[in-house]
Amino acid sequence: MVIEMKCPICEKGDLRNGEVEEEMFGVALGKFPAEICDKCGESFLDEEAMTKIEHKAKELGIWGLAEKLKVVKSGNSLVVRIPAKISKFLDIHVGDEILFYPEGKKKAVLETI
Ligand SMILES: [Zn+2]
Repeated sequence: MVIEMKCPICEKGDLRNGEVEEEMFGVALGKFPAEICDKCGESFLDEEAMTKIEHKAKELGIWGLAEKLKVVKSGNSLVVRIPAKISKFLDIHVGDEILFYPEGKKKAVLETI
């Protein structure tokens, strides 16, 4: 017997077993089993898949890369310190030039060049 589950997002589609390609910070983590809505395409991972993703991200050294930073003042500028693990991941070194620009009112991008 197959138990049909309705998609909690669109509430119209049925969830089917499939696989989704997961990535974190642009790094591919591999394929994981998921339930995928046949209408809106939203995918849902179970706890086991979430744990596997966490393990893979930790293995690749990218788990917990997102961090809250404090803005401090230096002269007339505002300074944000780039945490070591992020500068390592981005391969940024002292003296490098980087591009920094807003992407909307609530988001900015720091791009290595
Ligand atoms: Zn759906």
